[in-house]
Amino acid sequence: MKIFTTRQQIRQYLSSLANQTIGFVPTMGALHNGHLSLIDRAKNNNDLVVCSIFVNPTQFTNASDLENYPRPIEADIAKLTAAGCDVLFNPPVSEIYDDNEQWHLNIGQLEFLLEGEFRPGHYQGVTQVVFKLLDIVKPTSLYMGQKDYQQFLVVSKMVELLNIPVKMVMCPIEREPGGLAMSSRNVHLSANEKQHALVLSQTLTWAKENFGTLPIYDLEQEAMARLQNQPGVEPEYFELADGKTLLSADENSSTIVALTAAKVGKTRLIDNMLLR
Ligand code: AMP
Repeated sequence: MKIFTTRQQIRQYLSSLANQTIGFVPTMGALHNGHLSLIDRAKNNNDLVVCSIFVNPTQFTNASDLENYPRPIEADIAKLTAAGCDVLFNPPVSEIYDDNEQWHLNIGQLEFLLEGEFRPGHYQGVTQVVFKLLDIVKPTSLYMGQKDYQQFLVVSKMVELLNIPVKMVMCPIEREPGGLAMSSRNVHLSANEKQHALVLSQTLTWAKENFGTLPIYDLEQEAMARLQNQPGVEPEYFELADGKTLLSADENSSTIVALTAAKVGKTRLIDNMLLR
């Protein structure tokens, strides 16, 4: 695997490969099987796979979350090499951002709903970094996880608004055997907290099983109560949303997704499941 830390080096290398399809997997590292499933998918459908590891400061709304974000770069390199990733881009912050750089993209309501409400400014940081990474890598296809469902919609919206020539590919959520969605932040969970955190996927599964039987409002209320009743879990939201707009779902929504966020101890977790 080739490893680059500067834009100039990676640009020079990628532009020397004419007519190759590039599958791109942007990450913040601390890689797990969820990330590796994206690498796998990109590998199956492209001549070349590029992964980036960059803990993007502009998308963090909490300084201690940024500081404590896990950065096991040697282990990550070993995992990517074993997965057959061709190129890793692992730049320092100074390679991506100038001092006091400004960015704003109007992506409408998507920015402010759900995650946007609890993490103000988060999606401006996400669009800012993904725009820069796409400009550097110029991939054929961009692979992102359903785990961050709203992020996928936000980036798709940016790609549409700015006419960026890239195909968006959403990959399914990889879970631990008990159902917990894999996440780099799971390393912060104690064994007890991991047990408590199972209530997220269990409640999503319950909602999926009861969808169509109970009205949407009742499902949301009962799901919130289930989360609230789990010791050590502080739910932020549980909503059934239209899969395209993320506005509240109604019976006419062609895609419906249940999305939830909760704090388990000090760790904030998100998860979702498609219901229709
Ligand atoms: P992150 O490193 O958390 O920024 O994630 C990088 C990419 O991996 C994003 O597109 C995520 O949606 C995706 N991802 C994270 N966790 C999972 C998971 N459990 N299953 C599938 N994809 C995931």
